[in-house]
Amino acid sequence: MSLKIKILSEDLANRIAAGEVVERPASIVKELVENSIDAGATRIQIGTQAGGKMSILVADDGCGMSREDALMCIQRHATSKIATDEDLEAILTLGFRGEALPSIASISHMTIETKEPGETAGTRLVVEGGVLKNTSDTGRDVGTTVTVRHVFFNTPARRKFLRTPETEFRHIVQAVTQLALCHPSIAFVLSHNDREALHLSRHDSTYARLCAVFGASFMKEMLRVSFDQEDAKGEGFFGRPDVARGSRLRQMIFVNGRPVVSRFLNYAVYTGYGGLLSKETYPPFVVFLSIDPKEVDVNVHPTKREVRLSNEREISKLLTEKVKGALRTDAVSSDGREDRLPPRIEVGERAGGYRGRKGELQTSLSFAPPQPRERRSQEEHVSLWQVHNTYVFAQVKSGIIILDQHVAHERVLYEEAMEHFSGHTSTGQQLLFPLSIELSPPEIEIIEEIRPLLQHMGFGIRAFGRNSVVVDAIPSGLKRWRNGQMLVDMVDQMAKEGHITSGLKEKLAASYSCHGAIKAGEKLSPDEMQTLIDRLFATSEPFVCPHGRPTLVRVSIEDLNRWFGR
Ligand code: ADP
Ligand code: MG
Repeated sequence: MSLKIKILSEDLANRIAAGEVVERPASIVKELVENSIDAGATRIQIGTQAGGKMSILVADDGCGMSREDALMCIQRHATSKIATDEDLEAILTLGFRGEALPSIASISHMTIETKEPGETAGTRLVVEGGVLKNTSDTGRDVGTTVTVRHVFFNTPARRKFLRTPETEFRHIVQAVTQLALCHPSIAFVLSHNDREALHLSRHDSTYARLCAVFGASFMKEMLRVSFDQEDAKGEGFFGRPDVARGSRLRQMIFVNGRPVVSRFLNYAVYTGYGGLLSKETYPPFVVFLSIDPKEVDVNVHPTKREVRLSNEREISKLLTEKVKGALRTDAVSSDGREDRLPPRIEVGERAGGYRGRKGELQTSLSFAPPQPRERRSQEEHVSLWQVHNTYVFAQVKSGIIILDQHVAHERVLYEEAMEHFSGHTSTGQQLLFPLSIELSPPEIEIIEEIRPLLQHMGFGIRAFGRNSVVVDAIPSGLKRWRNGQMLVDMVDQMAKEGHITSGLKEKLAASYSCHGAIKAGEKLSPDEMQTLIDRLFATSEPFVCPHGRPTLVRVSIEDLNRWFGR
């Protein structure tokens, strides 16, 4: 039997191609918003239901389309943006392939409503699985509204791969935020299930937009560099190494108004930081490059996420130098800076070598009421010994045990968290002064996603602004809250997990325990050591931490006897 080669039907080919452009609802939102930007919109409104799986609506006040164009735009390779080879060599718009709308239409139920200036009636098209079902007049203002429902309705396998609505929506917020940062003069409103997640009015500068997204006080702490050379202009904002975070959510590089993923440019920035970063930390940075479009190839990736620059090496070098220079100048000029600045949140181990400069940053407040414990006899304390502020030696009946204080505490906190999730909700400890924590919209989405679980733990997260949350209670007894930094660390870690559909409780409990636990190097009082041991042995699995590392090793009296030849 020989294999038979057939040409795919256009419908099937479209659906396959759709997979390249449409990875998930966020890619649909990105393509539609890009079209609105290309159409000269000043205001773009995005509404999503169920993480975009149910529906996505993008409405703009751009140039709109004539009926003829509207009918054209759902055909493959129909684009108004390039016409000649030369055009392809210097792309000035976000779109250019004429692929997005037909691809999206082929895997969904799509409605397009649009009106050009000067027309009396607008056009309404209904398309199902790429097939035009209806064309009619519609009354509307100039502009375009595209509604996409039932994504992947005809490719169930792909639909299955979609994550929870919350996770899908997080990707949408991230995509919209990035485009919004590149286009400050356009107003953006994004809502999810009728809750507004992002509301950006028109801004007159990139900096104003950055402040609206990340918060003004965060931006004030960023180092700013700019350069203006013949072949490349650029502006960048870089966080000092000591504000490095646990995820890449705040690392963004834009080339000509387009968010890009570029290993080269990323590497260039990191090289600028040199050895100042400790492992697994990600300094925040936002870089805007404008480069002669002739030097930029955006046609290398189906979603245009990757770009190739012909002068990549020079630009990388320039970027590295700029980052290095800014950090050096800052380090030299910032002696005594501490007096002028508001107190900073302690960043724990992250700070690496850079932290010394600021000395001890802030003593973490202990919100736990002093435990009214009975004083133990001196005798009991003698059998507890902390070594190198990291390990606790304790005498037990059969010999000695050696605890890793961090790992042991992790196990304790992990179990407490899991217990709270399973119904024993903690009442939490009210904070004397509710604390407002500044977060970006994608980060707020993560909080939103885990908020019910946080509440079980005893966190009171009272209000959701678009840029901040207010925390008015924390789990009682939690000592390493570090004035909010702990919550930020947890958000970062959840962001790094990417898809947190399965095992969310376990992941959150692990993150909580990791960031809330005593660290190696912390001095413990005899009471604290005793409490740690008591609580550890009250857990269901005292011998391993949530990540599988041992919490303690045992040395039996027989071992000791054997070692000494007794
Ligand atoms: P591309 O953006 O690569 O040209 P698309 O499939 O995304 O391809 O869009 C096809 C064409 O439809 C665009 O070139 C543009 O002319 C038109 N179009 C799409 N969306 C809009 C919109 N929001 N406003 C005006 N015209 C639009
Ligand atoms: Mg497009």
